[in-house]
Amino acid sequence: MKKIGVLAMQGAFAEHIEALRRLGVAAVPVRLPGELKEVKGLIIPGGESTTIGKLLGEYRLVGELKKLIAKGFPVFGTCAGMVLLAKEVRGLDGNHSVELLGAMDIAVRRNAFGRQVDSFETDLDISVLGPPSFHAVFIRAPRIEKVGRGVEVLASLADGTPVAARQGNVVATAFHPELTADLRLHKHFLSLVDGNTRESQHEQGNAQQEA
Ligand code: GLN
Repeated sequence: MKKIGVLAMQGAFAEHIEALRRLGVAAVPVRLPGELKEVKGLIIPGGESTTIGKLLGEYRLVGELKKLIAKGFPVFGTCAGMVLLAKEVRGLDGNHSVELLGAMDIAVRRNAFGRQVDSFETDLDISVLGPPSFHAVFIRAPRIEKVGRGVEVLASLADGTPVAARQGNVVATAFHPELTADLRLHKHFLSLVDGNTRESQHEQGNAQQEA
């Protein structure tokens, strides 16, 4: 059975592992670069992007992950995970740096929804899922402020703020899909993983034929 990794440095990784297991997928925590080789895709959970970013660097995962993503390895980042995937991060104070994976051509602002409403829930129409709408939980969420070419916005708030996006095999949401019973976004990610696995098997087959 194919394995999917969940980055398990800090944050809501246990909930993502549980969501994947509910879908019948072998989900494993990932902490070391070697563990990345055993999985067909990776979820980067919500939590504290500064902490996860620091640990990504300390555990020497950044280089390996960047290499894999450049080759089409599917990654799904939620909330802090989205911050780590973004090309540009705004709203970091001078004391923090986030090891950026730079995997999606978006600019995000951390903790962008202000104190009073820094946590809220809303129903979203998500293009790739279709109806019914998706109940989305935002917790001190980032906001996507700029979207580059090649990035498909999957969902926006009523005021037009994009909150879910995809670029190739990289998907990011500003909210926490692992905190509700709706597993459609995890399923959508698994369909990208399946597509990528089929493609790389095809490429391997061609390489063998050519050899
Ligand atoms: N505010 C957090 C950050 O920037 C994200 C919060 C979350 O993942 N729920 O890291």
